[in-house]
Amino acid sequence: MKIHEYQGKEILKKFGVAVPRGIPCFSVDEAVKAAETLGGPVWVVKAQIHAGGRGKGGGVKLARSIDEVRQLSSEILGMQLVTHQTGPEGQKVRRLLIEEGADIAKELYVGLVVDRVSQRVALMASSEGGMDIEEVAEKTPELLHKVFIDPAEGLTDAQADDIATKIGIPAESLPQARAVLHGLYQAFWETDASLAEINPLILTGDGKVVALDAKLNFDANALFRHPEILELRDLDEEDPAEIEASKYDLAYIQLDGNIGCLVNGAGLAMATMDTIKLFGGEPANFLDVGGGATTEKVTEAFKIMLRNPNLKAILVNIFGGIMRCDVIAEGVIAASKAVGLKVPLVVRMKGTNEDLGKKLLAESGLPIISADTMADAAKQVVAAAAGN
Ligand code: ADP
Ligand code: MG
Repeated sequence: MKIHEYQGKEILKKFGVAVPRGIPCFSVDEAVKAAETLGGPVWVVKAQIHAGGRGKGGGVKLARSIDEVRQLSSEILGMQLVTHQTGPEGQKVRRLLIEEGADIAKELYVGLVVDRVSQRVALMASSEGGMDIEEVAEKTPELLHKVFIDPAEGLTDAQADDIATKIGIPAESLPQARAVLHGLYQAFWETDASLAEINPLILTGDGKVVALDAKLNFDANALFRHPEILELRDLDEEDPAEIEASKYDLAYIQLDGNIGCLVNGAGLAMATMDTIKLFGGEPANFLDVGGGATTEKVTEAFKIMLRNPNLKAILVNIFGGIMRCDVIAEGVIAASKAVGLKVPLVVRMKGTNEDLGKKLLAESGLPIISADTMADAAKQVVAAAAGN
């Protein structure tokens, strides 16, 4: 789960990371009031969307008067902000952060991610922070320093000082950098974050170390432990189909292709998508209905897939283990009838009561294409999507 910059900064602040004073706003009037409360002479008007690259996209602007705050806020609020992370359609700006302007001497980068290979949290840092960090990582990887943190020990002072020195923090600012790194690590650890990034972390003209941006992502599987973080969720920033799916406990991810996939089990869902691609098709979604695929769940899954205007055909690929194939078949038949299915449907079932399930499908009177193997199912659905 993602949150906004201003929410991330509030969390980091609680863990002792220095952030600029700022106030989140939902209207131009609120923005003007916020600027007056903060006091000048320089403010920054920042679009709050769940995507980075806002600066380059025109969503972060400097204002030198209250009038300018009003002007920029009215321009940014409501705009369709396009960044390299939003896709070409962009994301509508519904919230702003009005922040005091910082005196930037140097822009640095620090970030934490879970590193699967070492099974540790990796701290990454660079002297070349700011808006081009992706380019730095690609073209000059030697400028990106990494430390792998022992989960039992946590981040040590020695590690923090070493990496701070490597990214050019002067000796007199080391205690502050240490506080920022410990705070960032503690915030990451205690909130079950999957990513925590400060880009830029700045060194100010008077040697302070301040987080000018904050990006925190949380592990969705740990959110049950963090009701206070779940409260920060902003549904306006999420895909409506994915929100609908989460209500029914369906793991659904919208993709760019035209073949809908309804599968039980994440591994089988991945394999199904691979097989569709192998035969020249493009999946329209990832969808794992889980182990207990009831008729209601299957019906909702069909409805969600059918919202996609690109959908040309559907492949249902089910392994009947604990779940019996005849129950699945009944669910598929009921769901197809309930939604008045208009696109070709290919069904492949394997496992318990497979024959009974196939018989039910054949006798349903619905134009369902039955397939035996994965390859056969994929070939049939790719052909059906192409209109053959
Ligand atoms: P994004 O990463 O989405 O582009 P940032 O919050 O990193 O957004 O802002 C982009 C740039 O704007 C920063 O690299 C920094 O140069 C400048 N900036 C952001 N906040 C402030 C601030 N409070 N004062 C001065 N400059 C800022
Ligand atoms: Mg940034």
